[in-house]
Amino acid sequence: MAWYHEHMVSVAAVRLLFLILLMSSAVMAFAQNDRVVERRQMVDDIAALASLVGRETGRAGLDQRVLAAMAKVKRHEFVPPAQRRSAYRNRPLAIGAGQTISQPFIVALMTDLLDLQHGDKVLEIGTGCGYQAAVLGELAKDVYTIEIVESLGKTAAQTLTRLGYANVHTRIGDGYKGWPEHAPYDAIIVTAAPDHVPPALVAQLKVGGRLVIPIGKFAQELMVIVKNEDGSTRREAIVPVQFVPLTREKE
Ligand code: SAH
Repeated sequence: MAWYHEHMVSVAAVRLLFLILLMSSAVMAFAQNDRVVERRQMVDDIAALASLVGRETGRAGLDQRVLAAMAKVKRHEFVPPAQRRSAYRNRPLAIGAGQTISQPFIVALMTDLLDLQHGDKVLEIGTGCGYQAAVLGELAKDVYTIEIVESLGKTAAQTLTRLGYANVHTRIGDGYKGWPEHAPYDAIIVTAAPDHVPPALVAQLKVGGRLVIPIGKFAQELMVIVKNEDGSTRREAIVPVQFVPLTREKE
């Protein structure tokens, strides 16, 4: 009787163990598929780099909300299939049409410099694959993003819709002129480099609003431009950067 009883217990224990193994392998397969672990590693890399260059950027670390958004957005869903394996490495990637997506650290830094609040309306120039727009979409109320290369803009719009970013609004056009219909913006981010600050972008910024933009032809500086009450601006250079040039539509 005692033997029988113990035997029953061990069968139940084996069944339970089997069930646990099955569930944990399902969880692991899901994590691998979703690449949560790689994303967490990427965020750790970003945070480490941020404290290293903190002295230069004038920021000791990045906002936790920015890091949380970076841990959430599936970068591998935005990059072309050939780049998917490298999606979570801290480096720029080719996205087609001769364009590149910034390294994750720069995406995090620029997002941090925007100082976004939940209710904010943000404008982005240079949608590219839509990754930066998705990160902004996690932190702001509405994101308006413009891309000049039609094929890139269309693919980005599809990706953003597929992943459920209903608050990110896309458009094909020349971002040098901004998107006046939805102005003024709490923050504006430019992810291609012009050689001067586009006046329309300052005009479309709220007083106290922040414009984060790389400026320069060969040597570029990442700048934060804050709009004053009288329409003038204060400018601060953050770090040297390397972006693709802002191109212009032929008039
Ligand atoms: N933020 C993007 C990366 C941008 S790469 C991302 O997360 O993927 C820079 C992009 O700016 C390129 O796609 C380029 O085509 C676009 N671009 C260049 N000049 C532009 C302009 N005048 N208006 C809008 N987009 C522009």
